[in-house]
Amino acid sequence: MPQKDMRLIERPSNPEGVLEPAAGSYALTGDGDITYRCGGCKSKLAQNVSHDQVCGAFTAIRCPKCGRHNELPPEDQHHHHHH
Ligand SMILES: [Zn+2]
Repeated sequence: MPQKDMRLIERPSNPEGVLEPAAGSYALTGDGDITYRCGGCKSKLAQNVSHDQVCGAFTAIRCPKCGRHNELPPEDQHHHHHH
């Protein structure tokens, strides 16, 4: 069960594609084995997701606890996706 910290970014100028989960809930859940945490406060933002599920699914996740925006860590972006 890999647990990864996301990368803090500035608030995107385009709100489209930004997930804003309610406090106490996750932006994404699934049947994968990866948990993503906020890069700031370490709150869990996505639980039991797969790489394919998160890759390209959003531009950022706004942490409901600290309000900061997170994106996937660099190693998880465009990872073995060849179009
Ligand atoms: Zn946070």
